Amino acid sequence: QISTVTDHQPASMAAFWMPFTANRQFKSAPRMLTSASGMYFENDKGQQILDGCAGLWCVNAGHGREAISEAVARQVSQLDYAPPFQMGHPLAFEFAERLIQHTPPNLNHVFFTNSGSESVETALKIALNYHRLKGQGTRQRLIGRERSYHGVNFGGISVGGIVNNRKTFGSGLPGTDHLPHTLNIDLNAFSRGLPEHGTELADALEQLIALHDASNIAAVIVEPVAGSGGVIMPPVGYLQKLREITRKHGILLIFDEVITGFGRVGEAFAASRWGIEPDIMTTAKGLTNGAIPMGAVFVSDAIHDAFMTGPESMIELFHGYTYSGHPVACAAGLAALDIYEQEGLFQRTLAMEPVFEAGLHSLKGLPGLIDIRNIGLIGAIELQPLDGQPGERGRRVFQHCYEQGVLVRWTGDILAMSPPLIIEKEHIRQLVNTLKEGIQLAFQNHE
Ligand code: PMP
Repeated sequence: QISTVTDHQPASMAAFWMPFTANRQFKSAPRMLTSASGMYFENDKGQQILDGCAGLWCVNAGHGREAISEAVARQVSQLDYAPPFQMGHPLAFEFAERLIQHTPPNLNHVFFTNSGSESVETALKIALNYHRLKGQGTRQRLIGRERSYHGVNFGGISVGGIVNNRKTFGSGLPGTDHLPHTLNIDLNAFSRGLPEHGTELADALEQLIALHDASNIAAVIVEPVAGSGGVIMPPVGYLQKLREITRKHGILLIFDEVITGFGRVGEAFAASRWGIEPDIMTTAKGLTNGAIPMGAVFVSDAIHDAFMTGPESMIELFHGYTYSGHPVACAAGLAALDIYEQEGLFQRTLAMEPVFEAGLHSLKGLPGLIDIRNIGLIGAIELQPLDGQPGERGRRVFQHCYEQGVLVRWTGDILAMSPPLIIEKEHIRQLVNTLKEGIQLAFQNHE
């Protein structure tokens, strides 16, 4: 007998816990999702909810893909688990080989984790050890970027640029700095294309290097497009200049592509859209189309070789998870990758980009709307906060959309969208029209 979500009506919600205040609000008015197919969730009231977020930036091929569920079921019955240390199984090798067909040319080795947070932690641990293995002394400093999100683990919140996320943990990892983000210079820098500002912003890195000396700095980590922080675009030239500066000083560049990976911006990975070869790249989410928790860290040949051939090869890095390269996760990932490739979903993102952009930009001029940011199939709108009630306008728009059957992501007065890449024009219309009503109502109710 197989039990499913719909068989269970929880008598009480007391036992289930997540330590967020949002969890308290959720329990007082739960939005309970019970099934999903294609572009839609269904909730416990039988309402269809258009998924404007690919769940949480992960279900890139849409919901309920049979090829994935069949692959998972087959794998559970054939080999449900294999220890990752001193032994392996063929799917992990196959999945790794298949994945590196899509990465920038220098990233040819992959380590499997179970989440985005673990991928970030892995990347930071690799970076903190790489320089020692290369005989360059210990480099202990890490540089992140304001407004970036790198998961919930201790290294991740330390390099992460959302101050609220680490404010109850003291100052986080010692020796961590943050590059300034783009919004203070210009809203919507991407759409307006301001070539000078990208390089000016990246020059902040030179200042940090002058302050701390490159010989102390292990790595710079950035999201190519900062998703959770509000879909912050890299201004023109920014990422390229970061690459130039880090290379010049022998500092590793880590791209966190947990959100931007797997076609979100029209290439398998955002690094390729900007023609950049980072030294390390982290992913998760779309890796299995969200079906099974899994993450991955890609490293350059140079890093791989330093660890595998260095003199301390037995003690180079204490790292590895019980579920690294889990056979069921690999089966799900391979099935997801088959779908991405067979349906050309990464290229499809590029084809839909102008439709998505036109839809979002049709909202221009609405009262209280101060910015629209988008690339590929990720976008956000930003609302002018209400005096004394930051986030309230955003909450109202989110609430309206959900009641009208559209799921968007709400962070303060920013509403973000990252729909499954199978989205059609009529879904974009539904998304935009519902947002429009929501913005108009949120304005009327408060002015
Ligand atoms: N990095 C980025 C860029 C993310 O967006 C996220 C999750 N939203 C993470 C890391 C953490 O991933 P997870 O929640 O799977 O640990």
